[in-house]
Amino acid sequence: MILFGSPGSGKGTQAKLLRHCLNGPHISTGDMLRKHIDAQDGIGQQVVQLMKSGKLVPDELVNEFVETRIAEPDCRSGIILDGYPRTLNQAGVLLGMMGRYKFQPAVVHLVVDCDKIVARLSGRRQCPVCGTLYSLKTNPPKVAGICDLDGATLITREDDRESVIRERLREYESQTRPLLNYFQQAGVPMFEISGAGAPPDQIMRNICDALAKSGLIQGVPLEYPKAVPAAGVAP
Ligand code: ADP
Repeated sequence: MILFGSPGSGKGTQAKLLRHCLNGPHISTGDMLRKHIDAQDGIGQQVVQLMKSGKLVPDELVNEFVETRIAEPDCRSGIILDGYPRTLNQAGVLLGMMGRYKFQPAVVHLVVDCDKIVARLSGRRQCPVCGTLYSLKTNPPKVAGICDLDGATLITREDDRESVIRERLREYESQTRPLLNYFQQAGVPMFEISGAGAPPDQIMRNICDALAKSGLIQGVPLEYPKAVPAAGVAP
């Protein structure tokens, strides 16, 4: 499952929620890269400036991350990709991997108006310990600046500043959006789902319902979770 959409469309939030109806681990190239930055290792040093300025990192790097991760045993029943592929090169490499592993790829495109995106991202706060996302407007923490779950001080991602958000959106428009055409031409099934106007758990149900109707998943679980732990998406 390829979760596709602009920065701030809710891919990370949905990837976590979709575990309720899809098998397989959540693979986020952005999270992998941030781990290297936190560890201050060679890869971290190579990508930190690019990420801080909202630019994409080199294809070879993320292709290798995904190649390595997909070979692990927990990926055999499927994977949920978040933030990959983002360029035509990455999409070609991914479809090659899908063929080798006999996976049937599908794209879920989370559609959100551009004007909502900047407001969403600039109001986003994250717990550095457990990763829970908050939205200052629609899903604030109970105590300002503090994670409800573990009391850690919330942070703003460096690339969630307005000038960097605009660069990320430019990169999306020029490099990533064209993949929609590419997938269509490659015959990959695509589902357009609104990523706004409803709470995250409802959006998750809409995705699962669409996949179930098309026969791509077996059925929709009867009980969805009532509380949504990582709701960073403004309606
Ligand atoms: P978002 O989708 O909100 O931009 P991500 O965590 O997916 O957040 O990505 C953050 C940054 O990490 C991107 O702006 C880019 O610099 C880098 N990145 C993540 N995934 C990729 C990728 N597949 N190709 C190139 N760069 C990537």
